[in-house]
Amino acid sequence: MATLDLNTLGEFGLIEAVRRRAGDPGRRWRRGIGDDAAVLRPVQGRDLVFTADALSEGVHFRWSTTDGRSLGRKTLAVNLSDVGAMGARPLGFLLCLGLPVDADSRRIDAFVTGLLDEAAEARCPLIGGDTVRADVWNLSVTAIGEVEAGGALRRDRARPGDRICVTGTLGGSALGLRLLEAGSLDSRAERRFAKLHQRPHPPYEVGPKLVRAGLAACAIDISDGLVRDLGHVLEQSGCGAELALERIPLLSGFRGECERAGCDPEEMALSGGEDFELLFTVAADAPDAERLTKRLGVRVSDIGVITRTGRLDFFRKDKRVSLANKGFEHFKPLGPRSDK
Ligand code: ADP
Ligand code: MG
Repeated sequence: MATLDLNTLGEFGLIEAVRRRAGDPGRRWRRGIGDDAAVLRPVQGRDLVFTADALSEGVHFRWSTTDGRSLGRKTLAVNLSDVGAMGARPLGFLLCLGLPVDADSRRIDAFVTGLLDEAAEARCPLIGGDTVRADVWNLSVTAIGEVEAGGALRRDRARPGDRICVTGTLGGSALGLRLLEAGSLDSRAERRFAKLHQRPHPPYEVGPKLVRAGLAACAIDISDGLVRDLGHVLEQSGCGAELALERIPLLSGFRGECERAGCDPEEMALSGGEDFELLFTVAADAPDAERLTKRLGVRVSDIGVITRTGRLDFFRKDKRVSLANKGFEHFKPLGPRSDK
């Protein structure tokens, strides 16, 4: 397969090559790449969700800590994480590709390969976009998804008494980034954390499964760190929460690697970004974490409860602890919000 070289192919040649690789977007799309816009016929009884996320070279990624293929996967993954966090299944996505004049053709090729691999796995076709010159690599994806009408998982739907659940483990991506930046990838364990940062695997399926089972009304994907993202839920729901620190799920070997890298494991798990795991709340009498794990097909941990306090309180083995010195207790409850 020829590499994707913007200089020899030109903008239109590049788009044509991407179109051929992307293939047929499937029957839901009456028109895909090639017209002035893509055409989708909505289905009655379902709501559509739209989300955009951009990755800019030097701001969101550096070529010293990632590669084209990984970046292609991640560019789509971060968007599909948002679609899943709404409880929606992806329908398709648009790609705005901003490339410098001297962008390496093998890198463009690897990027498109990674992006379309992720798209194929998530069954989310590329249905259009734009291709432009830019000073640095600028990647922007707009993803579209659908969810049963009224079923979207919202940040303002947590209620006092709900249990707080998270999928997977936390802090691994932030540790991976530290290791990548330090150039410290000697052991298998270190490379595993680096991979978590370069190629996150958001649990796309979990949100839609929660909606279908009627298990949750509130969810957010953890992109900015547990405390910040939980903070968004608490602000919008007008609630507080209690978190049990010893229940925050960590990968085996995480504490040791953090200590070797000179960072605090607890801090990494609470505020390290880009885990792209799902946080959701369930009613007190919902199935326990073990049952949810079986039902959802991913590890689920119960890490705390929603309260009426308007504060975020931390506990370690049932003893209240203060993390104020780490700046973890400040968020402003706005009171219940309801726009619909
Ligand atoms: P227009 O001038 O109408 O914006 P373009 O020449 O930019 O048309 O795009 C032609 C077609 O190729 C459109 O269907 C557009 O959605 C698609 N397209 C352009 N760039 C990309 C891209 N990077 N990825 C996928 N589709 C693209
Ligand atoms: Mg255009």
